[in-house]
Amino acid sequence: MAIITVDEYRERISKLKPRLFIGGKKVEKLLDHPITRGVIEATAKVYELTLDPQYSDIMTAKSHLTDETISRSLHIHQNCQDIEKRLEMARLSSQKLGTCNYRCPGNEMLPGLAATTWEMDKDIGTEYQKRFTEYLSYVQKEDLVVSGSVTDTKGDRSKRPLDQDPDSYVHVKEKRSDGIIVSGAKQHATGAYAADEHLILPGLSCRKGEEDYAVAFAIPNGSEGITYIGQYNPYSIEREHADDIRYIGNPIYGQRETSLIIFDHVFVPWERVFMCGEIEYTQRFITRFAKTHRMNCGGACKVGFIDLIIGATQLIAEYHGLSRASHIVQKITRMIQLSNTSLACAIAAAHLGKEEPIGSGVFMPDEAMSNLAKLNTNEGFWEVMAFAGDIAGGIAVTMPGEMELENPEIKEYVSKYLKSAVPAKKRMRMVKFLQNWVAGLHGVGTSQGAGPSQNEMLVLYRITDLKGKKKMAQELANI
Ligand SMILES: Cc1cc2nc3c(=O)[nH]c(=O)nc-3n(C[C@H](O)[C@H](O)[C@H](O)COP(=O)(O)OP(=O)(O)OC[C@H]3O[C@@H](n4cnc5c(N)ncnc54)[C@H](O)[C@@H]3O)c2cc1C
Repeated sequence: MAIITVDEYRERISKLKPRLFIGGKKVEKLLDHPITRGVIEATAKVYELTLDPQYSDIMTAKSHLTDETISRSLHIHQNCQDIEKRLEMARLSSQKLGTCNYRCPGNEMLPGLAATTWEMDKDIGTEYQKRFTEYLSYVQKEDLVVSGSVTDTKGDRSKRPLDQDPDSYVHVKEKRSDGIIVSGAKQHATGAYAADEHLILPGLSCRKGEEDYAVAFAIPNGSEGITYIGQYNPYSIEREHADDIRYIGNPIYGQRETSLIIFDHVFVPWERVFMCGEIEYTQRFITRFAKTHRMNCGGACKVGFIDLIIGATQLIAEYHGLSRASHIVQKITRMIQLSNTSLACAIAAAHLGKEEPIGSGVFMPDEAMSNLAKLNTNEGFWEVMAFAGDIAGGIAVTMPGEMELENPEIKEYVSKYLKSAVPAKKRMRMVKFLQNWVAGLHGVGTSQGAGPSQNEMLVLYRITDLKGKKKMAQELANI
């Protein structure tokens, strides 16, 4: 079995030395820093779940390369059931963590890489599939954490890469006999600084003349020339200053942590390059990654988050003695409806999955349903948060800190005036948990992560058979 234990994971991660900056300071030890520690704790929990027999059906799979049991995070879907198990993994890890499963983004690139490298080798005689298969065997054998980056910094969005600072998109600077030199930066890279490996895909569908931007590769964490700049926000400051984890909404696992990854003349050996100049295949890489990502991250993962929000909101309604009020029952029901609609689309995406391209052995989710899962979540998540805030009341944002309960001068007041149907401490802790969802980073994080609504709308419009629909209408209208 190629699955490592939590202790082995911690031991390995303690050796990583990324050049990382957060809040203006260099981070020396990932395991000691209050922000990066959350990423490691969340990832450690994923390793723990993977070895837990009650979740093995969801969290593990059989490698199609070696037949060994591996983490599903490193598996390539071999059939529709595999795709469905993958989305179950996304939902389960969200329910258990309340933040990212940091093994997801890289995993969501693997099927698209397997499919497109197979296609390129078949069509144009490259050897990308062989390189990719060797790479996949390596990460499966070592049970590595792989981050995935497609989002370039993009600069002026109205301009192509060559019409502005060329480093706005990651690209090849030089081709050498032993490999390539790349420069540019990827942004919003989830958990990357604490991952063993990074997979980098092109972030735009390249045109003629943009061959240097059609580049896909894998690179180990901390390679020479790579700098990481972590996100920094009020929640980062809260984590830095809280000396007691009780005062943070998601104490152990924290926020979804990302970073800007800068590539300053980074060397990538040829055996880790999976595309270099084949512009006509960039769109296929992107589409295959996007539909996998939108089904999991956009659909199932956020359903797991909504499960937590519904649970917390129902509890607060009960704590406030309001759980039987008819409008509250109605609002909770609407939250359930919204989350189940996203889940239904994600499940449909898996059920309607197909081998793509035929003969590759790789199964991909249905494009329309995966984009719908994400689109429904984009809209539904905001509505869910609005209901949660409505039911929790103003205290969701005005609550004093739980630490006041330990201040002898005022603790009696806080106990007396912040109690409800339950003692103040219980209520305050659940409100703090909910505040992390409704008054924090998760709204924008959910709608932008895996692409804003316009991206999904464009796909739906492009792939829908409007001609067929027009014909149906014409036939019945006798035109
Ligand atoms: C929490 C979080 C985690 C993430 N994790 C990852 C990750 O692990 N790996 C990764 O690669 N990415 C990741 N992302 C990136 C995510 O996919 C992007 O945020 C998303 O695709 C939008 O890109 P952007 O942030 O650059 O916004 P923009 O592209 O600037 O979009 C903002 C708005 O501008 C519009 N817009 C942009 N360009 C145009 C145009 N040319 N014409 C018209 N309208 C336009 C968009 O439709 C949108 O409404 C993550 C994002 C978040 C928030």
